[in-house]
Formats: sequence, C-alpha cells, structure tokens
Amino acid sequence: MALKFHRALLGLAFSHIYPNGLPMAISNTLKHFPVMMTTLHKWFPISSQFITFAACPSCCWLYAPQNGVYPVTCTWDDFEVAKSK
Ligand SMILES: [Zn+2]
Repeated sequence: MALKFHRALLGLAFSHIYPNGLPMAISNTLKHFPVMMTTLHKWFPISSQFITFAACPSCCWLYAPQNGVYPVTCTWDDFEVAKSK
C-alpha cells in the first residue's frame, strides 16, 4: 500500500513539473514502479526483516507486536504525553 502511495505521490509531483504531459521516460518509470513488496524484493534482493505494526483506528497510535501478540485495546491515553494534548 505504501508503494502505491509513493507512486501516486511521484506522479503528482511530476505532473506539476510537466503540466503539459510527462516525458516518456518518466511515464514509463511510473508505469513500472513496483507497487508490491515482492516485486521490490525481486529487483533488490536484500535481506530484510519486516515488523507489522497494528494501528489504533481512533488515534493511529502504532503498536509493535509483543511476543507476536497485538494489544486488543489502545493504551495511548495511558501515556503521559497524551494527557498534555
Ligand atoms: Zn488509540
């Protein structure tokens, strides 16, 4: 999903730079811009480890898994910094 967002953002930026149409090279680059992590890994076979975070649907606070388990409820309000907002 983030890769699709990056492609869209690049397309938007280039459309402002080239308001009368994108040059063919840029258009082709955007057309073939990887939007799946599997494609990116094929192109750049580097070892990496991904951690999937859970996001609170209310406040967007991110939670890393603890021993493979995500919290069921948001604890953002429990932090001191949340009380100052
Ligand atoms: Zn929350």
